[in-house]
Amino acid sequence: MKDKIVILGEYQQDKLASITLECISAAKQLQREADIILLIMGDDIKKDESEWHQYDVDQIVIVEHPLLSRFLNETYAKALLSVWDQLKPTILLCGHTDIGRSLSPYLSEKWDLPLYSNIESFDFHDGKLSFNRPVYSGKLIEKIEVNNDSAFLVTIKPKKWSASQRKEKSNPSIYNLKVTIDQPITALIGLEQKKADVIGLVDAKIIVGAGRGIQNEEGFALINKLAEILGGTVGVSRGAVELGICDASIQLGQTGKTVAPDVYIACGISGAIQHLVGVTSAKTIIAINKDPNAPIFEVADYGIVGDLFDIIPALIKEWDKT
Ligand code: FAD
Repeated sequence: MKDKIVILGEYQQDKLASITLECISAAKQLQREADIILLIMGDDIKKDESEWHQYDVDQIVIVEHPLLSRFLNETYAKALLSVWDQLKPTILLCGHTDIGRSLSPYLSEKWDLPLYSNIESFDFHDGKLSFNRPVYSGKLIEKIEVNNDSAFLVTIKPKKWSASQRKEKSNPSIYNLKVTIDQPITALIGLEQKKADVIGLVDAKIIVGAGRGIQNEEGFALINKLAEILGGTVGVSRGAVELGICDASIQLGQTGKTVAPDVYIACGISGAIQHLVGVTSAKTIIAINKDPNAPIFEVADYGIVGDLFDIIPALIKEWDKT
């Protein structure tokens, strides 16, 4: 019987999130012979069939239920238990995102299956599959050999695979699956929209990073202005979060988001390893720091040594003209 890889799709603003398209690429690399099934859960899902028929997978399985209208660990996990019984996949693949990180340990324990988390590449050697993942804040890469006989769960690190392109001739079969979800003991009372552009952050082409060097609201306003005139968005270090003026949801690094923009401008950020692990996939890094020995300059393509309160207003003045 053919292997089945089920990809847990993430759906944001009526569109598949880029991490899900990255999961499709990873699934293709993982086992070419397997059936790749894209699972989309929600309620009243907007189906753009012409677009969906171009996703490069074998099947799309849609699970709709009123309790799945918003992500809640308990309801999604219960729905997935029911999906697992019906689809019997060999591999469950999802992003190492808030959703993937929240669901996968629970499911691994429930199904008594191994979980390989935060994987950034695969190797095949003598017919054996092994996974590579960063450990100790990215200082080492751990290689884990997979037991081929067992089903397993895997979460992949964002931005390590390119997003799967849509193909006109792909034409996956699309069908609905019914699930039963026991009455949950948790309920979502409401959602408060934060001002921070968290969704845009992961896919942004230009990110201006704010560190502890911004010092205060005035410094943060400069960062926001710079991002605005460049058509980019703002990410922050933990140092900036600790100042109490930036939202932790836009923190970049080991305990924050991993990004891979075309340009990352790190302002008043020292370049601690825990921060760098989330930003060094940027194509170009520009650092602004008053300390010429700051470690950020070791990874930067361009560096400006100086006070950001002098440099950023000058950049804004210059670039605002264009
Ligand atoms: P600092 O290290 O204080 O650096 C501030 C920099 O600003 C300095 O280099 C200084 O020269 C410069 N500066 C000051 N004033 C100016 C000015 N006027 N103009 C120009 N430059 C100026 N950190 C993260 O960012 N993300 C994470 O996900 C993360 N996870 C962590 C997980 C663990 C388990 C641990 C232990 C730590 C983690 N950290 C994380 C914290 C990390 O180790 C650093 O403490 C943090 O990144 C420092 O932030 P910073 O560079 O903004 O501040």
